[in-house]
Amino acid sequence: MFVSPLSNSLAAADIASTLHPNTNARLHEKNGPVIIERGDGIRVWDTNGKDYIEGLAGLWSVAVGFSEKRLADVAYQQMLKLPYYHTFASKAHEPSIRLAEKLIEMTPAGLDRVFFTNSGSEANDTIVKLVWYYNNARGLPKKKKFLARNKGYHGITVASGSLTGLPVNHKDFDLPAIPVRHLTCPHHYRFGLPGESEAEFAARLVAEAEAVFLEEGPDTIAAFIGEPLMAAGGVMPPPEGYWQGIEALCRKYDILLVSDEVICGFGRLGTPFGCQKYGFKPDIMTVSKQIVSSYMPLAALLFSDEIYQVVADNTNKLNSFGHGFTASGHPVATAVALENLAIMEERDLMGNAARLEATFQSGLRRLGAHPLVGEARGAGLIGALELVADKATKRPFDPIGRVGAIATEEGHAAGLIFRAIGDQLALCPPLIVNEADITEILARMETTLERTAARVA
Ligand code: PLP
Repeated sequence: MFVSPLSNSLAAADIASTLHPNTNARLHEKNGPVIIERGDGIRVWDTNGKDYIEGLAGLWSVAVGFSEKRLADVAYQQMLKLPYYHTFASKAHEPSIRLAEKLIEMTPAGLDRVFFTNSGSEANDTIVKLVWYYNNARGLPKKKKFLARNKGYHGITVASGSLTGLPVNHKDFDLPAIPVRHLTCPHHYRFGLPGESEAEFAARLVAEAEAVFLEEGPDTIAAFIGEPLMAAGGVMPPPEGYWQGIEALCRKYDILLVSDEVICGFGRLGTPFGCQKYGFKPDIMTVSKQIVSSYMPLAALLFSDEIYQVVADNTNKLNSFGHGFTASGHPVATAVALENLAIMEERDLMGNAARLEATFQSGLRRLGAHPLVGEARGAGLIGALELVADKATKRPFDPIGRVGAIATEEGHAAGLIFRAIGDQLALCPPLIVNEADITEILARMETTLERTAARVA
């Protein structure tokens, strides 16, 4: 067995053994990991005993906080009863049946069928395959292209990573590897023209989308995918009227509309789902993260009965739906998700997000006055501060990410974990937060900005 000479501590063992996701490996070797040992409510503790407010809810996902014993109990009971069973070849078990029913009940009308996966990436890969299968079955084999947006995030597997519109997820991975066109990112602050209003910006992007539909040929375009509010690319709410315009185009040209609700779903924006916040009706929806507060790996896609009927006929022709995962609908993950959703309902956590939206968003906007902050933005209980070198001209720091890394260090020192996306500092606290927690998060962010500014000056 290989024993690293560095393995004399947990940190050294980590450095010697692991390639971390979304991490600069050489910097990690130098700086080492922050090893998180335990959690309680909205806080986590590292192995040095330091506590942090988890201002990103882990990875935008731990709605009920880090110490929900009811979820542990349900997982234990389910493991004793039926720790695993699959859903291939007509097998089923109660937790996945009940969760599918629950999701259909909770989501907007017209999403009538559920398919379970382990991750959001797999769910979006499944959507690509499902849509291709559907269009082949409809006798429309040319209708295969996807439209997505620059800075959108839909995962990292081969198909979902192709839909993602972030260079770091493409470069040297040979992505995109499926036919996809990325449209302009609907972020007014960065991509609006001088003097252009939000409404004019939205209209321009809708016109751009229509031009791309016509240039490619609507008979070759299968679907448009987007996050209602673009999250992992930098927390960018859409300009007003954008989604209505995109939805109308999709209907006009027979293009499926996919709402990727992996972050926005289950109350993050103060409405049950993000498409409800922005007033559009998807044909397909991706959910994950807050569905189970990330206590277990679980995601799902929901789609219309119209798609289901065509797909079901084709499975009859081919004698199977040749797609699925060993853990699709895993009984422990689905049982924990059901309990998680029950807790969210009992405590009205989605309502909590709606009630605290004004406090959180106005507090963020107040921090927007800081000289380092170019834009403060967000909706519901998700937001970001974009740091810039020059507030008046919006000039970014060069290189992008250097100041974000300093802010991350200062955030840790101040006891606050957020996510630096380049120089955009994202906050997405657990949905169990209260007013006092928000005040504390914003105070720690203010300290972070002060200390970062002192180091950047
Ligand atoms: N879609 C969106 C909108 C996401 O934010 C993410 C992850 O952050 C994914 C898909 C991918 O999910 P996963 O990391 O579970 O593969």
